[in-house]
Amino acid sequence: MVKVKDIVSRFAEFAPPFMAEKGDPIGLQLGSLEAEVHKLMVTLDVRPEVVQEAIKNKVDFIFAHHPAMFKPIKQFDLADPQNRMYAELLKHNITVFAAHTNLDNANGGMNDWLAEKMNLKKTSILLPAKHEQMFKLAVFVPQKDAPKMRAALGAVDAGKVGNYNNCSYSLEGVGRFQPNNQAHPTIGKKGSLTEVEEEKIEVVLPARKKSAVLKAMFTAHPYEEPVFDLFKIEEFGQKYGMGRIGFLEEPQTVRQYAEFCKKIFKLQSLRVVSKEPNKKIERVAVLGGSGGKFYPEAQQQGAQLYVTGDISYHTGHDILASGLSALDPGHHIESICKEKLLELFTKWNVENDWKLRLIASKLNTDPFMFI
Ligand SMILES: [Zn+2]
Repeated sequence: MVKVKDIVSRFAEFAPPFMAEKGDPIGLQLGSLEAEVHKLMVTLDVRPEVVQEAIKNKVDFIFAHHPAMFKPIKQFDLADPQNRMYAELLKHNITVFAAHTNLDNANGGMNDWLAEKMNLKKTSILLPAKHEQMFKLAVFVPQKDAPKMRAALGAVDAGKVGNYNNCSYSLEGVGRFQPNNQAHPTIGKKGSLTEVEEEKIEVVLPARKKSAVLKAMFTAHPYEEPVFDLFKIEEFGQKYGMGRIGFLEEPQTVRQYAEFCKKIFKLQSLRVVSKEPNKKIERVAVLGGSGGKFYPEAQQQGAQLYVTGDISYHTGHDILASGLSALDPGHHIESICKEKLLELFTKWNVENDWKLRLIASKLNTDPFMFI
């Protein structure tokens, strides 16, 4: 039977928690990682009506983009509708998990989904990209034990470089040691200096694999006291970051592209900030969620149009004065995550034989309506 922890650890390979922005309350929101899961529902938001939908559909795991608990609870007073929602979740044994800015920042995640939907080509990361912290491990083993050690390290993804697995480098040399009376040497005798033909094996590994790799290394090493070096290396891990910038296939006017966005996101209306709505543009940036404050970065990267949600009145003024054009289709366009998450979970469900029933919330959780 598949548990919450199995599902979220598969998800962490795709959008690891370290990719989340500081202070973002991602991860387990409510419930237990040990809970068994039969039916999973993906949603953009966890709102009281979404919880009722989950109960009605006998869902036991809600996977959301927006964390359910942005504000910590001080009193669990059930007069508060938010608290009543938590109580309903607990009463029905529904676990809630959130993948927020880690999903925004992930390669192939939210911002790539938006860029793809918006037909942007040759996209790159909009905000300064970050790199995953990498480590280099060098371990010294007797030459005869080297193949076993290399296999053990490779099995926990040490030495994974892009599309290449089991990458390592070896040097042969001589190791020396003198065990004292308390030692239990695998090779050599207490009190006498021993020389062993050894191999130094070097591999790279991402920070998030550090404990698994060290555990594998200690398990595979024949010595009582394995000798190894482990150090941080710079700028090597996978790049990730917020927002995307790319090109339109053909130049279009701001107005035409605004109409296109209305259509693809099924919007009744959207807000346009532009001094020249009839000007043709081709370099477009997008950032899902509330990205108004990042318009200078879009402009710096040559964007002629910036698409993001929740642009405020004064930010609108600043954008207008800067000469950039912007579209605010609202925050709710992120609901495209429902179909995309469903695709991912469907794929992993088959690959891992989880036998889960999977659904997406059918509710529109946009708090705004237009009349
Ligand atoms: Zn959002």
